[in-house]
Amino acid sequence: MEQTPVIDIRECSDCESCVELCPSVFRINEESGIIEAVELSQYPEEEIRTAISYCPKDCITWEGGG
Ligand code: SF4
Repeated sequence: MEQTPVIDIRECSDCESCVELCPSVFRINEESGIIEAVELSQYPEEEIRTAISYCPKDCITWEGGG
């Protein structure tokens, strides 16, 4: 299974950096207004790594895989 990017929404400050840097994965949920990571079969790893490095709350992590 591929690793999946996960946002800890308890820490997220809604700065939207991840949405700007990696819009194919991170988006604002239209109903809840919460930042979320969409489920994909293949993730753009480089863009996600960039989003992780710019997240001011360090609340994006890779989960699963192996
Ligand atoms: S970059 Fe981090 S703090 Fe900012 S919206 Fe994304 S997950 Fe939340």
